[in-house]
Amino acid sequence: MGRPLAEQVAVVTGSTRGIGLAIATRLTEHGVTVVVNGRDPERVEVAVHALGRRAYGVPADVTTLAGTARLAAEAAQRFGRVDLLVNNAGMAQAKPTLDVSIEEWQTCLDTNLTATFLCSQAFGRIMLGTAEKGIAAGGAIVNVSSMVGGVTGSPMRAAYAAAKAGVVALTKVLAAEWGPAIRCNAVAPGYVETDMTALLDAEGRIDVEAIGRKTPMGRMAFPSEIADAVVLLASPAAAFVTGATLVVDGGFMVGAPWA
Ligand code: NDP
Repeated sequence: MGRPLAEQVAVVTGSTRGIGLAIATRLTEHGVTVVVNGRDPERVEVAVHALGRRAYGVPADVTTLAGTARLAAEAAQRFGRVDLLVNNAGMAQAKPTLDVSIEEWQTCLDTNLTATFLCSQAFGRIMLGTAEKGIAAGGAIVNVSSMVGGVTGSPMRAAYAAAKAGVVALTKVLAAEWGPAIRCNAVAPGYVETDMTALLDAEGRIDVEAIGRKTPMGRMAFPSEIADAVVLLASPAAAFVTGATLVVDGGFMVGAPWA
């Protein structure tokens, strides 16, 4: 059984807005000390200020080895251990497969998948106690995949879906390789009300009204509802859950009118 939430130190990548900020908010409400991350230092500062005394900010680009190494080093140096890593940073990409350039493919893979690998490696070393100053001997990782790619396919999401499927596969590998010291699980959200979906909506690439009609719960998710699933997987209540992907889609996939 892991530490109670109120004694945990967590790092949430991409937590300056959207789902990541909601995860950081929920975790601090449960008494967790949270390291907030994003590329923009000003946004990191604003989020830390809003979250209050349990938050600490480290701006870093998690697609780079240098960025993830600095994020891990600062967190370990400041708190002496890290109990929970939430790999949330990500980006959407919606365009016909034939139009996706190699640069666009690479950026999407780097942000959604490579960052998850790099952070898992950097924080895995700390949690397993193999880092230079590491003293922790356990922890949990929660990866933010997606219904799209993590579970199902979707037109015009080649790089995004491939990356999110990769996140689910990586989750299983790390659960198998690092258990029992580290539990590793994923959440696969359906459509969530964030800047990401607002942009897709503005570009006409998703139909918010149709999503509501197809979803048994009648609407898109609030970021806080994804955060609650992450908190569940991070908590001692999920002590025997590892390698799992928790779909949080309001029933979207079972609700589609197939015939
Ligand atoms: P947003 O675009 O609203 O927020 C993304 C966050 O990630 C921001 O804080 C951003 O800050 C940060 N970020 C992006 N790139 C990097 C990077 N290279 N290094 C560090 N931080 C980074 O996204 P959402 O909240 O909508 O999505 C969060 C996660 O949930 C993503 O992994 C997404 O794929 C997944 N998801 C979202 C769904 C949705 O409907 N919204 C559905 C299913 C999954 P900054 O730009 O300042 O770096």
